[in-house]
Amino acid sequence: MVSERMKGLGTARSVIRELFEYGKLRAAQVGPENVFDFSIGNPSVPSPAAVNEEAVRLLKEQPDLIHAYTSAQGDQESRQRFADSLNRRFGTSYTAGQLYLTVGAAASLCCVLNGLSCPGDEFIVFAPYFPEYKVFIEGAGARMVLVPPEVERFQIDFGAFERAVGEHTKGVLINSPNNPSGVVYSRQTLERLAGILTEKSREYGHPIYLISDEPYREIVYAGVEVPWVPSVYRDTIVCYSFSKSLSLPGERIGYVLVPGEVTDSGDVYAAVAGAGRSLGYVNAPSLFQRVTSLCCDMTSDIKVYEENAKILVTALREMGYHVAEPNGAFYLFPRTLEPNDLAFCERAKKLDLLIVPGTGFGAPGHTRISYCVQTDMIRRSLPKFRELAESYR
Ligand code: PLP
Repeated sequence: MVSERMKGLGTARSVIRELFEYGKLRAAQVGPENVFDFSIGNPSVPSPAAVNEEAVRLLKEQPDLIHAYTSAQGDQESRQRFADSLNRRFGTSYTAGQLYLTVGAAASLCCVLNGLSCPGDEFIVFAPYFPEYKVFIEGAGARMVLVPPEVERFQIDFGAFERAVGEHTKGVLINSPNNPSGVVYSRQTLERLAGILTEKSREYGHPIYLISDEPYREIVYAGVEVPWVPSVYRDTIVCYSFSKSLSLPGERIGYVLVPGEVTDSGDVYAAVAGAGRSLGYVNAPSLFQRVTSLCCDMTSDIKVYEENAKILVTALREMGYHVAEPNGAFYLFPRTLEPNDLAFCERAKKLDLLIVPGTGFGAPGHTRISYCVQTDMIRRSLPKFRELAESYR
């Protein structure tokens, strides 16, 4: 006997992974230059040179220390460097004791959700959303309540949100810059969200925590403001990752920040640490705790993503696609040219254009294009997008 839930998760098909595997198969058949794979969100630009330099230096200078266990919550000096960096950037006064280092944003989210969840709790998620949220929330024994998308600008449908909040709402999960829409929540959106959360927390007599999932925080186009969410809403817990900003998804490193201002912050931090322990996430990878803490004020060359977006958005709009204005991350989320996004993406696949249906992100009638790819491939893919559009005329 095994857990049916876990067996289900372990065998469920992932549309994104399947497309990605199909892309590799097709590349072997027709040549990689003839396949336009926009399926997966793997950063396409290398880490800054300093990342490898620091890794090599640490391995040479501290060969014993670097492979040893750190504190369960992460190396004290590294956590202090992360806190100092946040304090310089956001004018805050965080301490090492408010940071818990984890295995990427996925683990950060699982630690927070498991740390907060009590029987009967609900977490609100806004569509379009990162599909793993459902797995993480249900894995923590809670229920996901989905708020439908506001499809013009992918900000928040506040009417639907207010209807979704209730006495069982323990938290609200946001992701800005967003996967899959590429949109950043404006300050106005966040302030309105904070206002409602404050009011509802008072009405129900318990804090409603805002969990801000921020792996794309730095990946924004010139001039776009990404407000520091804890400065807008007091009960915010931040989940961060270096997977995207430093192009290190395989190194599995990120953190949870529980600011001291959060209601019952000491208990929340202890529960996050307890969840990390119970899930087996203690002691994030030691080498990369140090490396990222020494490089956390840098990013990979993210200008490339902006250039890719510009080429795609301009061309797609000119071809007649409706694309909500993206501000960052490395995703676009255009409307499909028929209501059935699954059929639309199948039609694209026949042209070796691999794009992901919006249904899995809670927003049917859309498709996700991951443009963290070589700019040259984007240019070469444009005739295919045109052919796809013309097939609907
Ligand atoms: N949250 C969002 C919105 C993501 O897009 C991803 C990864 O693509 C994650 C979390 C997980 O990131 P990590 O690689 O740091 O676990």
